[in-house]
Amino acid sequence: MDNIPLAKPDIGELEKRAVALVLESATLGLGPKLKEFEDTMAKYVGLPYAIAVNSGTSALHLLVRSMGIGKDDEVITTPFSFIASANCILYQQARPVFVDINPDTLNIDVAKIEEAITPRTKAILAVDVFSHPADWEALQVIASRHKLWLIEDSAESLGSTYRGKPCGSFGDGAIFAFYPNKQITTGEGGMIVTRHKDIAEKCRSMANQGRAVQDGKWLEHVQLGYNYRLDEMSAAMGAVQLERLPEFIKKRNQVASWYQEAFQDSKGLELPFVDSQCSLSWFVYVVRLPKHFTCNQRDLIIQKMSERSIRCSNYFLPIHLQPFYKETFGYKEMMYPVCEDIGSRTIALPFFNALTKEQVAYVAENLKALMKEIEL
Ligand SMILES: *Cc1c(COP(=O)(O)O)cnc(C)c1O
Repeated sequence: MDNIPLAKPDIGELEKRAVALVLESATLGLGPKLKEFEDTMAKYVGLPYAIAVNSGTSALHLLVRSMGIGKDDEVITTPFSFIASANCILYQQARPVFVDINPDTLNIDVAKIEEAITPRTKAILAVDVFSHPADWEALQVIASRHKLWLIEDSAESLGSTYRGKPCGSFGDGAIFAFYPNKQITTGEGGMIVTRHKDIAEKCRSMANQGRAVQDGKWLEHVQLGYNYRLDEMSAAMGAVQLERLPEFIKKRNQVASWYQEAFQDSKGLELPFVDSQCSLSWFVYVVRLPKHFTCNQRDLIIQKMSERSIRCSNYFLPIHLQPFYKETFGYKEMMYPVCEDIGSRTIALPFFNALTKEQVAYVAENLKALMKEIEL
């Protein structure tokens, strides 16, 4: 069996043609494709403003900064995520305050949020982890009761819905990310979406060196800015990928059901949970080993899968246990026990549009065999 990667982008003739047209036009930055991509995204999530940037991480930074979150402010967030959702708080000299996760959805446990709120709390930053929507209705209630900003990290959930509404539409601002392993890709890229005009304008200005959004001069800078701009080639590709998203969602749904079928008979293996009020635009397919497996055994299985040409990953090592966070903030084991338990048993399996039923069967067969072998 040929190597089965963990993820693989779906790039076709339409994307190639769109990028080639940009190259021929010679407008490689701040051109019409940027606007087209933004307008398509705003329409997709049903919000008035979308600002394309050069990564999901840049999008998070600008969103946090645009809300005036700064030194010694606290932002409540999840420890079970990709590092960027906590780092963006540190970029502003603010403090991430972690709250443990729900063991089913793997998202921030809304029942534990209010006890973590202090007079310094300015925002809640929730993540739709592995494309499963966070509990947005409960989050909206808590945020408005305590007058907090609500930030959505929807980097993994473009196309997922919660009670019929799209991820990215629930908070004061949300972000998407377009690295090649996400549902749609621009190479590198990200997007901010918001219902607030002032947040949109601040983000747009800061992404472009702090230039004024309207009637600004090229070499006049009205605030501290960054170069977080997305180039035209990426924007052109993103517009095509977003058009194709419904096709991608369908394919990924098919792959997820093949996995579900293939694991029907494996006792103890925990398959991804989907709340009945949600529909997923599948980002990854992450299974959990039974509780009696240790973290080392999980890592050994991942290594042995790799020896059989199947690339898997250990999404996620909890953020508070990352070496940098432990050293800088003194976090220790057992501070967020649900997150740590889950994080020690997860295996992300190969998952992408072009994965075949045969490949899924091969992955499942090998995982089942290795679980038996290592359990002995
Ligand atoms: C991918 C991802 C990001 C960051 O996106 P980049 O484009 O890689 O900067 C942020 N948050 C989450 C949860 C992600 O999965």
